Amino acid sequence: MAAHHPVVIVGSGYAGLQLARQFRRHAPATPLVIVCADDGADYPKPQLSHAISKRQSATDLIRKSAKEVALELKALLLTGQQVKAIDPERQVIQLAARELPYRDLVLAVGAEAWVPPIGGDAIDEIITLNSLQHYQQYQEQLANSQRVLIVGSGLIGSELANDFLLAGKQVTLCDPTDRLLCSLTPEFVSERLHNVLAQAGCEFAFNTTLASLNQQSDCLLATFSDGSSVVVDSVVCAAGLRPRIALAQAAGLNVNRGIVVDKQLATSAPHIYALGDCAEIDGQLLPYLQPITLSAQALAKTLAGEQTRVQWPVMPVNVKTSSYPVQLAGEVRSDDLIWQLDEDDNGLTGQAFRQDALVGFVTSGQHITRSMALIKQLSEN
Ligand SMILES: Cc1cc2nc3c(=O)[nH]c(=O)nc-3n(C[C@H](O)[C@H](O)[C@H](O)COP(=O)(O)OP(=O)(O)OC[C@H]3O[C@@H](n4cnc5c(N)ncnc54)[C@H](O)[C@@H]3O)c2cc1C
Repeated sequence: MAAHHPVVIVGSGYAGLQLARQFRRHAPATPLVIVCADDGADYPKPQLSHAISKRQSATDLIRKSAKEVALELKALLLTGQQVKAIDPERQVIQLAARELPYRDLVLAVGAEAWVPPIGGDAIDEIITLNSLQHYQQYQEQLANSQRVLIVGSGLIGSELANDFLLAGKQVTLCDPTDRLLCSLTPEFVSERLHNVLAQAGCEFAFNTTLASLNQQSDCLLATFSDGSSVVVDSVVCAAGLRPRIALAQAAGLNVNRGIVVDKQLATSAPHIYALGDCAEIDGQLLPYLQPITLSAQALAKTLAGEQTRVQWPVMPVNVKTSSYPVQLAGEVRSDDLIWQLDEDDNGLTGQAFRQDALVGFVTSGQHITRSMALIKQLSEN
């Protein structure tokens, strides 16, 4: 083992930086290198869902510059450096102009925003918001756009719709399914969020896909697969994420939907680990902050010499649609669940039972304060 070589983390998103912070608690003096393709600034990615209505610029979102991050972590932070290849045999990574040896390598390379196949002459105009750089590039255009089409009504699409409506924009939301948050929440939650967004002026195009996007003088003509169309100033695609697996795949590591790792975050190659949006942990993609934090805590210990498996507690998912916020955990989408609903003007609490045991819940509005007790109850079951 190249024991004198540094621990190298590829990626400076939440996963990379969270791991580096945790690692420093256990190994204050071990040489640490972070390599990233972006500028290495520390920013809260979930806040991209609120930036337009809060009139925040990309700069406003930066918590620490790369220089400050490097100082905090006592790490060498190589920014603007795309890792081109990994050689697991020799324990080196290939950068544009040089090789970098590693003792242990961690891939925290995130995921790409996926854009479905769309025809037309304006597909280059489609915006994705999956990084600070994306937001920096499009913030002015989005601020100046009055009519916005959002492709995808999942968590991020719904949050963006809510945010753009709050910013006074005319929003159309399209999705191939028949409702909001189809893969996340039960139908009764989708319906209520739908009503709130509709009251704020949102238009919906469900059961259809964006077939083509064409330039029309100074705006865009979006045509759907059902033949209907809408004229907009911007199109934001929130149709899902695809873990970045190419680098790992080319190095011969096992990949599936993500980079395949076990509960110690170990890939199929010795001394190579993965976490965050790029990783498929024990068969699951978990592109949320809480599982990343827990993964980082476990992996930091392993890298410091104490082999540790990640354990999942009950992990709630928050839908930050401020006009109708939703929190949920456990099983909420199976057809065989018996729901007990408690709803008033302040929101809703839905408890999902199977054979008299609580297996999941949904809270919304001010009822979100009840989530803690439900999480506790679920954990004890
Ligand atoms: C709009 C939005 C709202 C969200 N809201 C929530 C929320 O409310 N709650 C929640 O839990 N989660 C939320 N998420 C998800 C959460 O933000 C992500 O799961 C998390 O930030 C992913 O972090 P990551 O470090 O894995 O990936 P990323 O942040 O994508 O970082 C990837 C890093 O890898 C680098 N990289 C990639 N390829 C290479 C290469 N070849 N060489 C060098 N560097 C490379 C990139 O430059 C970058 O530094 C949201 C996401 C979005 C987009």
